Amino acid sequence: MTQMKAAVIAGANAPWVLEDRPVPEVGPNDVLVRIRACGICGTDVWMANGTLSFHEFPLVLGHEGVGEVVAVGEGVTKRKVGDRVGIPMAQKVCGVCDFCHQEHPISFVSGVNCASPTLTGVTVNGAFAEYIAADANGTVLLPDGITYEDAAPTMCAGYTVWAALRKVDPKPGARIAVVGVGGLGHLAIQYAKAAGYHVTAVTRTPDKHELARQLGADVVVADGEALRASGGADVLMHTGSSHAVVVDAMAGLKPWGKVVVMGVATDEMVLPAGPLAFQGYEVIGSAHNGMEYLVEALGFVARGEVKPMVEIFPKERVGEAYEAASTGKARFKAVVTF
Ligand SMILES: [Zn+2]
Ligand SMILES: [Zn+2]
Repeated sequence: MTQMKAAVIAGANAPWVLEDRPVPEVGPNDVLVRIRACGICGTDVWMANGTLSFHEFPLVLGHEGVGEVVAVGEGVTKRKVGDRVGIPMAQKVCGVCDFCHQEHPISFVSGVNCASPTLTGVTVNGAFAEYIAADANGTVLLPDGITYEDAAPTMCAGYTVWAALRKVDPKPGARIAVVGVGGLGHLAIQYAKAAGYHVTAVTRTPDKHELARQLGADVVVADGEALRASGGADVLMHTGSSHAVVVDAMAGLKPWGKVVVMGVATDEMVLPAGPLAFQGYEVIGSAHNGMEYLVEALGFVARGEVKPMVEIFPKERVGEAYEAASTGKARFKAVVTF
């Protein structure tokens, strides 16, 4: 086996096209993974349309890849052939720059600060391909009982929302408001509920109200005033594509409340200084924060406590999958199978 199929993007806004590519070489400390599924993330859309640029086109994206190990490189003891693994975005750091000498857990923060990070599907080819070679230490074992289709969106989306909730560390019984019911939000509602919190979904889309309840939301409201009227929230999880909606929802934030920001929207985030100061609010950034949270996030899915809503596209339809993800038509995560 020397050739494989990969989804290649020739340039900004170009369609995703399945092409033949060489199967990657397995270097020392690498595993070769036969990819079975990979989810499309919002970041992929931004790289595909040229909004974000880390690597020259043509690109093979994909940082939600999962599959089985089919070969191991020299020196690999941590994984073996047959292991079911996932490869998150932050795969490896250089180890020799000033930042790496401080020995931080690997996360987006490493990717931003390391002088030469290996970021799956960002700085190196990703998992929208039949095979990927990755550093064995940059993989995570999938728990028994999780399907590849459910594991894929957990590799970034699920990891993102669970790591954010863990970073805020709400008190038992706290009231969590999830702002936005989309790719991240539909998972955030489920994770917060599974962890035992009172959950309010904040969405302006009326046809998502019933769905938010089915996902586990105790209360569903349209905006910050309604959030306040319903009893308010100790934590706002910012999962949406608009900062303005989150700033509006802060009207329903209780004293000493926390806003956790885990994604980036394109509008300017204009924070109200008065409430921030006088209510003692905190605005907290979250960036995956370490692989232990990914393991926890996968555990919820494996136990059936969280169920990603996915639309599956076989690799031959990868172009359609991108269309669905980039136009917001996918409900809620587009997953490509290989
Ligand atoms: Zn992502
Ligand atoms: Zn480094």
